[in-house]
Amino acid sequence: MICPARITLDAAQLAFFNGLPAEAPSVQSELGCELECGHEGSHAALGQQVETTMWWIQWTLSASEINPYTWCPEHRSKHECSLFDGHPGGHTPSAHHAEEMNRFSEDQRGATSSR
Ligand SMILES: [Zn+2]
Ligand SMILES: [Zn+2]
Repeated sequence: MICPARITLDAAQLAFFNGLPAEAPSVQSELGCELECGHEGSHAALGQQVETTMWWIQWTLSASEINPYTWCPEHRSKHECSLFDGHPGGHTPSAHHAEEMNRFSEDQRGATSSR
């Protein structure tokens, strides 16, 4: 189970992500928490990745901030954890990311077939 919390990025946060030298497609304005359901502390969603640095947006009911992290040490193990180093809750493979990848490739197909 993954935490159901979602956040809508404000203009300054989107501008920050779009200003990063990342090759990935631009960040969606609405992101979902990627931590285990019922976790402690702030919610967290991966915004953008630049080389080995992952920029996570972390938020509570009253505030949000963007912080750089490296991968969880379990990222390359059998857990294939897609979270940041020191995250709360259990190790979580990238459910949200798989979903986003599918949506992205569908968009690409739509764009090609309409030409
Ligand atoms: Zn959460
Ligand atoms: Zn982990």
